[in-house]
Amino acid sequence: MKVLVPVKRVVDANVKVRVKADGTGVDLSNVKMAMNPFCEIAVEEAVRLKEAGTASEVVVVSIGPQAAQETLRTALAMGADRGILVKTDATVEPLAVAKILKAVVAAEGPQIVLLGKQAIDDDANQTGQMLAALLGWSQGTFAFKLVKEGDTLTVTREIDGGLQTVKLKLPAVITTDLRINTPRYASLPNIMKAKKKPIDEKTPADYGVDVAPRLAVLKVSEPAKRKGGVKVDSVAALVDKLKNEAGVI
Ligand code: AMP
Repeated sequence: MKVLVPVKRVVDANVKVRVKADGTGVDLSNVKMAMNPFCEIAVEEAVRLKEAGTASEVVVVSIGPQAAQETLRTALAMGADRGILVKTDATVEPLAVAKILKAVVAAEGPQIVLLGKQAIDDDANQTGQMLAALLGWSQGTFAFKLVKEGDTLTVTREIDGGLQTVKLKLPAVITTDLRINTPRYASLPNIMKAKKKPIDEKTPADYGVDVAPRLAVLKVSEPAKRKGGVKVDSVAALVDKLKNEAGVI
């Protein structure tokens, strides 16, 4: 069984992003980029499926600029077998990503597409759901646990206030939540080995997909600055403030 894992190159989660002065977006010049953390979790889960003998091959795909090749190499160093770079310098919205992934699925024939639940740059949380709809496949989103039995997949999902377990028929689209695993660090020998693993290069046009944006970003702004805290002298003063200023008790 082949598993396809789409991985996105985003601003490193530890970088404090700066909004451009004209409010048109986030300043990406000289900013450290890395694999989207939820995609790392998806790669880890796919590699674990392979290590358990459930998956036979893990293919990773990234849609983005040439530099997204580094992201694919990171996934290969974690244990994926080969990569596909769908090269574009354009901003590719989730619907266009889902259309490209649908074409990659047609070419590769995976039984499971394992995505991150969301990319931390745009926080869209749309691609997996759109892909499942385009393919007409089952979907298990926000996965906390995956168990494959024959041609079914039991997925425990993280939902508000608890967990929900669903049984899906394969093929299926799965999106990973935060707690399903802790991604491994690639070891130096595996980083070296990953340099020799194949990465195929394609373009959106090879898959017949028009990536022209459908949305216009009107404005990006920083969150409001937090006001400084104050020290209170007594519990009574605290309770008074909570009651009469914050209005929370
Ligand atoms: P989003 O819907 O943008 O929040 O992204 C959810 C997931 O879709 C990510 O964690 C990736 O697995 C996948 N994805 C989104 N954009 C891309 C991209 N440009 N290349 C590869 N995978 C992507």
